[in-house]
Amino acid sequence: MSPIEFSKRLQQLPPYLFAEIDKAKRAARAEGRDIIDLGVGDPDSETPKFIIDALKKAAADGKNHHYAFDAGMPELRKTISRWCQKRFNISLDSDTEVYPLIGSKEGLTHLPLGIINPGDRVLIPDPAYPAYRSSVIFAGGEVVALPLKEKNDYLPELSLLKNAKAVFLNYPNNPTSAILPKAYMKDLIAMAKKENMIVISDLAYSEVYYDDQKPASFLEIDGAKDCVIEFHSFSKTFYMTGWRIGWACGNPKLIAALAKVKTNIDSGIFQAIQVAGIEALNNGDQAAKDMRALYQDRRDAFVQGLRSIGWNVPAPKAAFYLWSPIPKKFNDSMQTAKTFLEKADIVATPGNGFGTYGEGYIRMTLTMEKSKLLEAVKRLKKIL
Ligand code: PMP
Repeated sequence: MSPIEFSKRLQQLPPYLFAEIDKAKRAARAEGRDIIDLGVGDPDSETPKFIIDALKKAAADGKNHHYAFDAGMPELRKTISRWCQKRFNISLDSDTEVYPLIGSKEGLTHLPLGIINPGDRVLIPDPAYPAYRSSVIFAGGEVVALPLKEKNDYLPELSLLKNAKAVFLNYPNNPTSAILPKAYMKDLIAMAKKENMIVISDLAYSEVYYDDQKPASFLEIDGAKDCVIEFHSFSKTFYMTGWRIGWACGNPKLIAALAKVKTNIDSGIFQAIQVAGIEALNNGDQAAKDMRALYQDRRDAFVQGLRSIGWNVPAPKAAFYLWSPIPKKFNDSMQTAKTFLEKADIVATPGNGFGTYGEGYIRMTLTMEKSKLLEAVKRLKKIL
């Protein structure tokens, strides 16, 4: 038998740029070093008890043990629609404009299979969450970089929104923590409609914001539903990353495309998790508020600490990522991350792992206790 080879599609995927840091992190841990991991985008907190209780009860009920409906429980879809109405003041038909997902990543990455033909150009922000790019490659599309530059507050230049079938956008943004002003959203939708472009908006961090700067949904803009599909997540709002539940909403044709792909691939979300999701959305406002207070406290302490040792980092505007130009004494992102790990036992993510335009930046997460963040400041003081 000839050697087994990966498909051309798989071979086309970009190399995993964090592999080197991951390896060094594992080696440091194996040596017993006390690593402060500011690399992972996974909250350290536990899911609120009322959500776990709802899961326990639903898991014990035999009627939840079967294949779920692909389209999710009608009650979940209705609850999502009501939550969106309350949060964004938007109307969504729970039958045709809302679709539960096994986490937002699952939906974001399956959508291109339903709307992108081989050779179609798709605009992908650079830097960005890496899953968008892979999903376009899987669908045979052509990835076109949409630079996000610090001098533009990490907003894409509207003049670049052309000659593409679709654009991925993510505000609040990972990794830059940027937010999108409403006026800009309006211009962006006008441009997308003029150019016949589908807008794929990733709102996974919609509830992780500071100083009461509530992120908006594109669907708040008049007429946006003609071209927008939006992706939401329970993961960050309710510390539910491991549960795998999210949803898509927006244009019914785009929802139908995603639904058709998914029906051929998965068989829905474990129903007990859907029941817990309904509970989270109906009764989770206080939990989300507490989550924001926790990160705001950590953000303020970390930013203040780093500035006090002479590293003038920008304060995150939303999400839980501190994205900063690397300190002056370093040459590039990877060298910075390696030095942080080797000399200070701190894991940070080199910006170039998120795209070419991430070079010269470093990302650190706030998903660690405040005491650890302050300890990180102390350690960095010695090497900066
Ligand atoms: N979008 C962005 C920008 C993310 O950072 C993440 C997870 N880190 C996701 C989507 C995926 O979230 P989920 O757990 O809902 O799949």
